[in-house]
Amino acid sequence: MSTTLLEVVTPDRVVVSHEVNMVSILTGGGELGILPRHAELAATVKPGIMRVKMPEGEDYIVVTGGFLEIRPDRVTVLAETAEIGSRIDPDRAEAARRRAEQRLAERRADLNVRRAEFALQRAILRLEAAELSKQVGTPFERVLNK
Ligand code: ATP
Repeated sequence: MSTTLLEVVTPDRVVVSHEVNMVSILTGGGELGILPRHAELAATVKPGIMRVKMPEGEDYIVVTGGFLEIRPDRVTVLAETAEIGSRIDPDRAEAARRRAEQRLAERRADLNVRRAEFALQRAILRLEAAELSKQVGTPFERVLNK
């Protein structure tokens, strides 16, 4: 099965740089499935869970927004934040979820609702990706530890 290079980069670091068979990612235009030799494309990335199929198995990456570029030799995701599922701290995400839910429930006059909703969405995505990654045996750990 053919592969293409996937690079997921944040302002801090390179999260993943690896040959993959398929990437599924939420863009401004909807969910996009990317196979090797996909047409060149640039798109915005929405908060979501990227599904990545690679020779070592299938795994998940949470991105909280960014930009996607597909070129003949690679797929690049420039993300605001990105974590592979197995590197997510579920306790931290759970605490963030509770905090956001509490803020939204209290509805104090100075609450920035959009900000709280976005924080809640990030936390839920992280909890979901951590669980999904665990279910598939966290293949990215094997890849990144090589
Ligand atoms: P928190 O309130 O827990 O900081 P947040 O949603 O405000 O959560 P972000 O601003 O999205 O956090 O991210 C800040 C940094 O922390 C990023 O580098 C991100 O990858 C990392 N990060 C956030 N939550 C987690 C988590 N649960 N596990 C691992 N890394 C995380």
